[in-house]
Amino acid sequence: MTTASLSEWQTRILLAEGLEGWTVRDSPDGYCWKGRKLLDVIPGDAALFLHEVAHALVPILHQGDQHHGWWGNTYTRLVRQYMRSM
Ligand SMILES: [Zn+2]
Repeated sequence: MTTASLSEWQTRILLAEGLEGWTVRDSPDGYCWKGRKLLDVIPGDAALFLHEVAHALVPILHQGDQHHGWWGNTYTRLVRQYMRSM
């Protein structure tokens, strides 16, 4: 997948998931900045992008436990829904 088509794929998912106004930034590591509506992702890492989208969609229930069941179910849904369309 080219960088341009990966970017289009990311934009399509953000809109489909109701994350209008969020931006994706190339970074050496992944992070979801909820307050800034910003996703840091490693370039070309589609699975990491979906990982951070899942963080954007579900709340942090307890500090230090961001990968709870709700997040996991959301991440699994995103992978099933979007990885096959790449
Ligand atoms: Zn995470």
